[in-house]
Amino acid sequence: MNDQQITDAVAQLLGGHGASPAASPVAAPAPTPAPAAPPATTGASSVEDLIAKILAEGGAKPETGACPDYVPGSKRCCWQRARGDNDPTDNLVSKLLAGAMAQSAAPKRGVCPVTGRSAPDTSITDEEALTLGDGVFETMDEAIEAAEEAQRQYLFCSMAARHQFVEGIREVFLNEATLERISRMAADLTGMGNTAHKIIKNRVAAQKSPGVEDLTTDACSGDGGLTLVEYSPYGVIGAITPTTNPTETIICNSIGMLAAGNAAVFSPHPRAKQVSLLAIKMINRKLASLGAPANLVVTVLAPSIENTNAMMKHPKVRMLVATGGPGIVRTVMSTGKKAIGAGAGNPPVVVDETADIEKAAQDIVNGSSFDNNLPCIAEKEIVAVEQIADYLISCMRKCGAYFVEDPAIVKKLEALVINEKGGPQTSCVGKSARYLLDKVGITVGDDIKLILIDLPKEHVFVQEELMMPILPLVRSPSVDDAIDLAVELEHGNRHTAIMHSTNVRKLTKMAKLIQTTIFVKNGPSYAGIGVGGEGHTTFTIAGPTGEGLTSAKSFARLRRCVMVEALNVR
Ligand code: NAD
Repeated sequence: MNDQQITDAVAQLLGGHGASPAASPVAAPAPTPAPAAPPATTGASSVEDLIAKILAEGGAKPETGACPDYVPGSKRCCWQRARGDNDPTDNLVSKLLAGAMAQSAAPKRGVCPVTGRSAPDTSITDEEALTLGDGVFETMDEAIEAAEEAQRQYLFCSMAARHQFVEGIREVFLNEATLERISRMAADLTGMGNTAHKIIKNRVAAQKSPGVEDLTTDACSGDGGLTLVEYSPYGVIGAITPTTNPTETIICNSIGMLAAGNAAVFSPHPRAKQVSLLAIKMINRKLASLGAPANLVVTVLAPSIENTNAMMKHPKVRMLVATGGPGIVRTVMSTGKKAIGAGAGNPPVVVDETADIEKAAQDIVNGSSFDNNLPCIAEKEIVAVEQIADYLISCMRKCGAYFVEDPAIVKKLEALVINEKGGPQTSCVGKSARYLLDKVGITVGDDIKLILIDLPKEHVFVQEELMMPILPLVRSPSVDDAIDLAVELEHGNRHTAIMHSTNVRKLTKMAKLIQTTIFVKNGPSYAGIGVGGEGHTTFTIAGPTGEGLTSAKSFARLRRCVMVEALNVR
């Protein structure tokens, strides 16, 4: 029995029993005479049989004339039945619907009709990545139109289907060969970071970005009925992704945005074009094999600032999500659209005299050298209490830090890594410690992961977010001074901070004063995004706009759905 047959059957019953649609304040379809049998389907005759059976069983006598179901009660705070409890119309409709549901052992609409390829095919060559198709369009206009069309179809997919699509995306990127391929490609194309750590980041993005389970429902019920508050899609979301985490951000944003029922238009960093397009094509092919609407995740063949600007202005893009530096975050926040800004950080790590110094040293080296210090959450400067500073340095040297003491080498490093504007030299961002040391005439082995320098707080290496494995250490006379200095060096980004201490009062003090989205206690910074720490992951950490560690619900609107005077069963 299909929807139309149920509607017709209910109309037939209502036409002969109980309330007349003409008397209803709500425009209801005119009662139809007994519906002509629809084209030969199995449901057609069974509808009529069912109605006849129910009528015979119930012995119901058709009523005529207008008779409202409910009338206001005497106290206006409740409603009462106009016709008592044995309204044959209600009974008939209920039985009909129950019968219809029992009959419809038809296949459940788990997924949408297949709109694309029918077999999974993620075998895309590097050259094919730079071609049109599989979600890649010539113009931003075409990409957005296609995404809008896809999202309209997606509205009618079940939650089970959404879940299946999200799981499909995970499956693509949890394939070890794919992980290795996209990670290596990202490192090679951008010249930043290293393959081994990018594999870890891409894997955690695929594994730990929340899916549909993130979309919880709030409900309240009472005499007035039942009210639901649910996470509903925005529609088409424009997502701008950084060069530092190109595929990680596409994986994690796609999972979250699709789980929330949206379509995503990506604006990748031009330097990461090929690997970003490859990831988007892989997602499209997988989704097509699962029967998803085509073009739920799209981009353009030639990502550029002009295309990003066109995307931000397009009226069909209802929400913008920028993961990048302060410039692009400010830009999306000034568009007048709903925007999520995931911006820069300069995470300080405080080490006080109560800390487990050996462990702190290991955690800091691991966190700060992760992907050559590219992550926005990575330790960017140490503030160490004077009393333990030398011991911390000696422990860090044992864990792979190269300690630079010669002021002439520090000068050479400054000249190498700082550009004319006083910021990090792009060609040095994400390079290894070994590479940077080699450029200033020092040869080390691969066991060296980090360059450690004892510096005053005013130094550019302390003040700037370098995104390379040069970690300055600033000394502080006491833990309270260290906390104050850390707050100053974080520059109000409210991004990430780390503290090594066993003094819970000082840990609490720093957490309260620094107000960062992520605050890691006694661990490496990456524990804050679920790597070795509890909780979900994200590669879009929205400090400026306050969503925090984004997940599916960050990409959804809260909507209220109200059923009046019914469904309260208390
Ligand atoms: P970026 O700001 O240079 O670029 C980010 C994206 O914005 C790119 O796709 C770029 O093409 C685009 N873009 C930049 N300026 C633009 C403009 N004027 N008009 C249109 N598009 C523009 O940053 P990046 O170097 O790619 O990434 C590093 C920065 O991102 C760091 O500051 C880092 O802290 C930050 N980041 C933050 C998070 C987070 O979750 N908060 C995550 C990763 C990176």
